[in-house]
Amino acid sequence: MGAGVVGASVALALRRDGHRVTLIDREGPCAGASFGNAGAIVNGSCTPTAMPGIVTDALRMLGRRHSPLSIRPAYLHKAVPWLVRFALESRRSRVIENARNLHALTDRAVGSWRQLTHRSGLGDLIHEGGWLTVYESEHSFEKSQDERDLMDANNVPYEVLFAADIQDLEGNLAPIFERGVFRKNSLLISNPFRLIQGMVDMLLNRGGEFRRFDVQSIDCCDGKIKIRAASESLVADKIVIATGAWSKSLAAQVGNNIPLETERGYHLMLPARNSGLLSRPVYSAESSFVLTPMESGLRLAGLDEFAGVEAAPDYRRIRRLLPEAKRLLPGIEGSEESVWMGCRPSLPDSLPVIGFAAQSRNILYAFGHQHLGMTLGPATGLIIADLVAGRNPGIDLAPYRPDRF
Ligand SMILES: Cc1cc2nc3c(=O)[nH]c(=O)nc-3n(C[C@H](O)[C@H](O)[C@H](O)COP(=O)(O)OP(=O)(O)OC[C@H]3O[C@@H](n4cnc5c(N)ncnc54)[C@H](O)[C@@H]3O)c2cc1C
Repeated sequence: MGAGVVGASVALALRRDGHRVTLIDREGPCAGASFGNAGAIVNGSCTPTAMPGIVTDALRMLGRRHSPLSIRPAYLHKAVPWLVRFALESRRSRVIENARNLHALTDRAVGSWRQLTHRSGLGDLIHEGGWLTVYESEHSFEKSQDERDLMDANNVPYEVLFAADIQDLEGNLAPIFERGVFRKNSLLISNPFRLIQGMVDMLLNRGGEFRRFDVQSIDCCDGKIKIRAASESLVADKIVIATGAWSKSLAAQVGNNIPLETERGYHLMLPARNSGLLSRPVYSAESSFVLTPMESGLRLAGLDEFAGVEAAPDYRRIRRLLPEAKRLLPGIEGSEESVWMGCRPSLPDSLPVIGFAAQSRNILYAFGHQHLGMTLGPATGLIIADLVAGRNPGIDLAPYRPDRF
């Protein structure tokens, strides 16, 4: 259930094992967060969102006029329980553990994407080039030392760059960056929508099905699972809930109260002639957004908004970042071509939920991949296929248990 990167990956992995698979989504494929992200496959990423000092940083950010973080006042009371848990996850002992458990998954990212796209032609949408974080001041670089400590602790390779190295890598960036951190073995998806659409086509070519179906209720009866939409129902032996930020209420129906929140993010597309300005996604540490060269143009992506899944987007927020993007990358030409908002599915510990529902082992969960769903989709698909087959997934799944909170 859910045809984003996670659901499509799960469907392909299950089909590969010979199961009869129907992928369902209430809209078409790739209608959620998987559509408009920054496209980075950040291999080995081990930085949870809740880092030491995040509470002070967040309070400071909320006080800024054009903050990358926002909480809609009308939503505050709903977000508070999640935010409290999130704050508790920023304690150093929790951060070290969350980083280790995040890394155990992200370490499989590139390998699982290679396996998924092998001999499919879809590999053409995935590019080498790495992930570059840039810092305008020594101070902000030093402030991010915790991130490098976590990478060191988890043996994640990276290079520290100086101004001249940054210019060598990305000569069109303004010469304002003093330091950079380069993760060479990360990859870029140049068109996430085409990639996921291609994955769904691959599923169909391999004998799977796709159906539009808006799941409203789930029942377990006589060893089968019945899912209902407004005017139809489907019966399956097993289901996998991979409906991203919309998974909370479905999981609640089958016995799990999961603290899933959405961290909403935005993008703004600039004309295709700007794509050549960069060779890889570049994340500005001070401005907290990514500039990604995509097939269809340069994508400015970021922001973190707490407003729930229902509230209308506020595109003024991403539009305000355009002058800042032009300051960092002065060659940007032309104006906005489109804007988009998507719902990142997030848990307070930055780890997804992967495992069985409380009510039945015929219901599995694969959601909550927060800022790293594009990185983790195929790795999650393989783990779910192992669980369904009763194979050992080769990873301790306790940290991702649905009942860990
Ligand atoms: C601005 C931004 C930048 C990002 N950049 C990156 C990045 O560079 N790298 C990275 O790894 N990750 C990134 N992410 C995160 C990534 O996009 C998400 O983690 C990922 O897309 C989540 O995938 P998903 O399949 O779980 O959910 P989604 O893609 O949201 O898919 C869920 C699907 O479920 C369907 N659905 C929901 N409810 C129902 C229902 N009741 N019945 C049927 N179908 C239903 C929806 O229609 C949707 O298609 C970014 C996110 C944002 C917002």
